[in-house]
Amino acid sequence: MSEFNLTIDGTAINTGETLDVINPSNGEPFAQCPLANPALVDQAVNAARRAFPQWSATSDEARSGLIHQLGQLLEQHQEELETLICQETGKPRGGLNFVGATMELMGSIGWTHVTADITLADEIIQDDDELFVKAYRKPLGVVASITPWNWPLMIAIWHVIPALRAGNTVVIKPSEKTPLATLRFVELANTVLPKGVLNIVTGYGDVGGALVAHPEVNKIIFTGSTPTGKAIMASAATSLKRLTLELGGNDAAIVLPDIDIDSVAPQLFGAAFHNNGQTCACLKRLYVHESIYDEVCQALAEQAKAVVVGDALNPDSQLGPLQNEEQLNIVLKLAASATNAGGQILAGGKRIGSQGFFFEPTIVAGLSNGDELVDEEQFGPILPVIKYTDIDSAVALANDNPNGLGGSVWSADISAAETIAQRLECGTSWVNTHGAVQPDAPFGGTKQSGFGVEFGHHGLAEYTSLHTLKIQK
Ligand code: NAD
Repeated sequence: MSEFNLTIDGTAINTGETLDVINPSNGEPFAQCPLANPALVDQAVNAARRAFPQWSATSDEARSGLIHQLGQLLEQHQEELETLICQETGKPRGGLNFVGATMELMGSIGWTHVTADITLADEIIQDDDELFVKAYRKPLGVVASITPWNWPLMIAIWHVIPALRAGNTVVIKPSEKTPLATLRFVELANTVLPKGVLNIVTGYGDVGGALVAHPEVNKIIFTGSTPTGKAIMASAATSLKRLTLELGGNDAAIVLPDIDIDSVAPQLFGAAFHNNGQTCACLKRLYVHESIYDEVCQALAEQAKAVVVGDALNPDSQLGPLQNEEQLNIVLKLAASATNAGGQILAGGKRIGSQGFFFEPTIVAGLSNGDELVDEEQFGPILPVIKYTDIDSAVALANDNPNGLGGSVWSADISAAETIAQRLECGTSWVNTHGAVQPDAPFGGTKQSGFGVEFGHHGLAEYTSLHTLKIQK
């Protein structure tokens, strides 16, 4: 079975203790991940602290060049990293709508190069005979990054690259369920970065907890569930660490009666089902006008029945298994609750086989707000389609949820859709698309989906503090 090492202070560390990494396509362990402990967390944070003065003093140009080199390393090791991602997440290389392991690598590479070129300009506030006043950005120090299992490498890149770009040093803790691509990336990155600039500790939530609580950590970037985000915020409060929290979502889409169903239904389906629904900004609640409700439900059910579900490494698979057994059990529970609440299963509804964590792509009609499948983040391949009568009630239903990550409006009338999209309580509204993100536009949640943004210069600024300089002339 393949074994992996931690990288701390530029050195490979074999911890002696390991945890099994499960292949979700068959439920069997296929690799061993090192298990860190509080002493190793301390070692990693101290290494990052020692590396900070030199890294933060490195010129902007030199840092940008090294980050481009990290992008090149990802390109050179694309095939190997893609295979690790397929094995540990269960997502196929290609995937439904080409949202799979290959896209995860391409996104990681693109984000790295774009972020390498983003700079934060100084702001000259006053420059006259009396005073010179400027505001500028300084790195924070040691950044702790904690990542989830759904897009392990891409989210690691989203955290690590801007943190380094801004002049911070980093300790990353990936999910215990999908640590491998991140372990390998950090190992590769250490062939070009100065030692201690990027370190990795792996293990369960207690390792993340030790990292969050460490007094030498200055900022935490966390992507994961809302309950974990709240625990991290409570811990961070004890020493006022800065925080960016990218938490759960339950994104709504509102479909107006004027859409072309044949062209829009496949797009809605892809937005909900790519990566088996296991993306924070997947479409998770679909509100459709009553005049086209039956037709849209039918079109989505046909899409669901046509999807090829199979082993992540089979090139024919469009969707793989769910990433883990707990997630499969959540989906099974929500499917049962949907039926109990009077929902009609129009396609799917059942586990596939007994090996691995496969579930049929599932469309459920006849539910409303207040039903578990609508109110809770399913994070799986089961979509409730809800009927609405007028646009005000659709907006109210969409906003009637504690989460506020993204939302979308679908219509042939772009200007009407834009007006409605602006009424959605979320960080990103899309019109005639859903879930698309890009490295130069801010992305983040509102309400229980967290706070702070990633990407572009707004995202980069979150890895800095604003410093004001005043010179009396
Ligand atoms: P999770 O909260 O269970 O785990 C995330 C990470 O936190 C893991 O590395 C885990 O080991 C660690 N962790 C657990 N307890 C901890 C603690 N007390 N202190 C510190 N670290 C701890 O989340 P998950 O199940 O891996 O991910 C799925 C969730 O992530 C979904 O809710 C999804 O919507 C959300 N997500 C959000 C975004 C976004 O950008 N908003 C992106 C992807 C995923």
